[in-house]
Amino acid sequence: MSGTAGRTYLSAVIPLYNEAITVERLHERLSGTLESLGKSYEVIYVDDGSTDGTTEILQALHKKDHKVKVIVFNRNYGQHAAVVAGFERAAGEVIVTLDGDLQNPPEEIPRLLAKIEEGYDVVGGWRMGRQDSIVRRALSYMINQVTSLIVGVKMKDYGCMLRAYRREVAERICQCQEISSFIPVLANFFAGSVAEIPVGHSPRSSGRSRYTPFRLLRLNFDLLTGFSLLPIQVVSFAGILISFLGLGFAVFLGIRRFFVGPEVEGVFTLFAILFFFVGLQILALGLIGEYIGRIYMEVRRRPRYVVREILE
Ligand code: UDP
Ligand code: MG
Repeated sequence: MSGTAGRTYLSAVIPLYNEAITVERLHERLSGTLESLGKSYEVIYVDDGSTDGTTEILQALHKKDHKVKVIVFNRNYGQHAAVVAGFERAAGEVIVTLDGDLQNPPEEIPRLLAKIEEGYDVVGGWRMGRQDSIVRRALSYMINQVTSLIVGVKMKDYGCMLRAYRREVAERICQCQEISSFIPVLANFFAGSVAEIPVGHSPRSSGRSRYTPFRLLRLNFDLLTGFSLLPIQVVSFAGILISFLGLGFAVFLGIRRFFVGPEVEGVFTLFAILFFFVGLQILALGLIGEYIGRIYMEVRRRPRYVVREILE
């Protein structure tokens, strides 16, 4: 992170992937809100490999407004990589992140800051009346439960990126050299105190979510395997349990042989049992593969992203 701590009060970090239609409106609303705070601030737009002209609009914004910093990636590396890049160049005492599609109203930022001023290290927003599909909301609900359990910090909405962080927390996140980072979770690992406040959520005004179902799944695999060994431990435990049950069943069949005689028509039961075990083994293998894959990624230590251009 740049060494200008103490001078700028607030950095707003916004990842953008093909948001040409909203970015100007966003900037207007955002700078309106930040001006009204009466404190020093900067806005860092991170262009995550857009191909729709977002980059040119950002370059123009940078020319017009000296408070705008722009980081341009050479291709698409994902929202979380983009936020980390913003953190690394943020000068603010407090750093706020929000989405660039105006689903997170910038007008909520003063409320996040008020909560930070109360002494919290991290303040998350949870999206009230969330404007996403029911399937996505149901999935998010499950993911939030599991994540809360794994991280040990109960939060209603780990997926909401309208958040505020104290500088120290953001610095620690930057120190993590891992490739796949899920920022709200990393932040909760390092934060001494965490608060969550309800924030508004608007429907996406243009285009569709930049996350395909498959990308969303990958992101949540990151979350699950990236932050704990719980999944693999659950599998191992289930394996032990099932082996014992299988053993018990075999003993039962053995005894039954003496009293009722051998069973002849149990072929399909056997099949069922076999499939059950085979399925379990495949699942276990998959999980092991997932972890090994991650180890491989980490040991290669490839950079998380490549910056093409920085405008500050
Ligand atoms: N985004 C990004 N890189 C990506 C995907 C998304 O920088 O690979 C940005 C996107 O431009 C937006 C924010 O991350 O500002 C949230 O993305 P989106 O609105 O598509 O996600 P959703 O609201 O459906 O969670
Ligand atoms: Mg969105």
